[in-house]
Formats: sequence, C-alpha cells, structure tokens
Amino acid sequence: MPISEWFHKKEKYTQITPAIEKRTIPDGVWSKCKKCGEIVYQKELVNNLEVCPKCDFHHELSAYGRLHLLLDDGKFKEFDKHLLPADPLKFTSEKTYLESLNQSQERTKLADAAVNAKGKLNNHPVMIVAMDFRFIGGSMGSVVGEKVTRAIERAITDKLPLIIVSSSGGARMQEGIFSLMQMAKTSAAMARFKETNLPYVSVLANPTMGGVMASFASLGDVVIAEPEALIGFAGPRVIEKTIRQKLPKDFQRAEFMLDYGQIDLVVHRRDLKETISKLLDFFVGETE
Ligand SMILES: [Zn+2]
Repeated sequence: MPISEWFHKKEKYTQITPAIEKRTIPDGVWSKCKKCGEIVYQKELVNNLEVCPKCDFHHELSAYGRLHLLLDDGKFKEFDKHLLPADPLKFTSEKTYLESLNQSQERTKLADAAVNAKGKLNNHPVMIVAMDFRFIGGSMGSVVGEKVTRAIERAITDKLPLIIVSSSGGARMQEGIFSLMQMAKTSAAMARFKETNLPYVSVLANPTMGGVMASFASLGDVVIAEPEALIGFAGPRVIEKTIRQKLPKDFQRAEFMLDYGQIDLVVHRRDLKETISKLLDFFVGETE
C-alpha cells in the first residue's frame, strides 16, 4: 500500500500519522542497520517494513506501523487512548520516572507503550493490541496491563479473535509491584478469554522478555515470532552470570525457541498478515 493512502480520512476510524512519522528519525535520510551495520536509505527501510534489505534484520516497528501492517486498508478504531500512566512510587534513578514518561510521550506521540484497536484482518474482525518498544522499552506498567486486560475483555464481549503483538523488555521497574501485578491481571483475563474458545494469536517481536513473556505473550493458542526475535524471561547475560556457563549460540532467539518447542512459528514480517489470516480461517472459518 503506498504511504500516501495512509492519510485518507476514514469515517468512524482514527486518523493517524503513518509509521514513517512516528519513528525517531535522526538528521539525514540514512539509517545504520543494527545488525549488519550497513547504511540503508531510510525510505527503503520504511517501505521494506523496517526490515533491513541487506541482512533481513527486523527492526522495531511502531505500534501504529504494526496496525497498518496487519489491518485491512490501515483502518481501525482505537480504544482506551485516554489511559495515562501515573507515578505511584515517585521513582527516581538516573532520571525521574516522570521525565522518562514525558520524553517517551514526546518522542513517540503515544500515551504509553501499547495501542488497543479493533479492525479487520483480511476481512476477519479482530481485537488487536500492538506494543511499542520505543516507549521505555515497551515495558509493562499499569497502563499496558490495563489496556491488554481491556482488549481481552472487549474481545470476550464482542466475540472477536484476539491478536497481541508484543515487543517488550518486561515489567516496568519504575512502577515496582504495580507493574508485576499486571502479569496476574492479564493472565487472569486471558483465562476467562480461553473459556470462550475464541482464538488468541500471540506475535512476539524483538524482543519479548520478562514479565510480558511470563504472562499474556506466552499464552497464545498460536505463538508466532518474528525472525531472530529475542524471547525469554531473564536475558542471556544475566543467565550467563548466574549459572557461570557459556550459553549456546543463538540462545533465546526465535529460531532456537522454535527448535525447542517454545513457540509455534517463525514468520517473516512480510508474511505475517497472511499467516495470521490463514490461522483465523482455520479457527473461525473463512470469510466471504
Ligand atoms: Zn542489516
């Protein structure tokens, strides 16, 4: 879909700026690939869904970019946009939590690290949550937990399949116990969702770690990861230090996790929509 079409005003649906504007774009029009280090023309990278044309590395995709990728004509209705993070612990380390929030909000134009929306995926009505790693590492605080829970509850009420695209370093340490409680809350909501027999497709983008992986991200009926995504609870460096052993090559990468049965599929970003569509055909029947 050409980028120009993203700007078309659609009734009832949220008008948003496209992924290219949501990205943090440095001066100049070139980007350096995080994996191969090659210099890539930014427009080429955006047109290639933020996948490096030289080495195929999947860079971060913004939450809205993800909705555009997966939903028909980039159309959707956003929910729960008004939920704003609080700072119950008055947390301070190198900078205050409020400063981190303000900077992330300024940079991403998001209120927090997840966007809830309803739309159609190849004509299948779906409830979808897209996480955004650029917002404090996609970490799960009270707002992300509440948004995921509300998306699950709305999927139950509206009898819709659920898709959650995770991209997160884990729980948000700045919210302490309040962030850890989101693991229980989202998992309990997911248990209620499972009683409906509606499908939940969990997509793990690089990285999906910690409390997010240890709660809703690993509970999908089908768990799909993007190539080379880092997936796990504690990171490899922490594990190596703890057990004082060298870890296998590619430990916790999507392909490694697939080999060991932790996930169901590794799917290239360009094939993600079609793959989820086929899964929905299977679970809920083909659409007209
Ligand atoms: Zn590359």
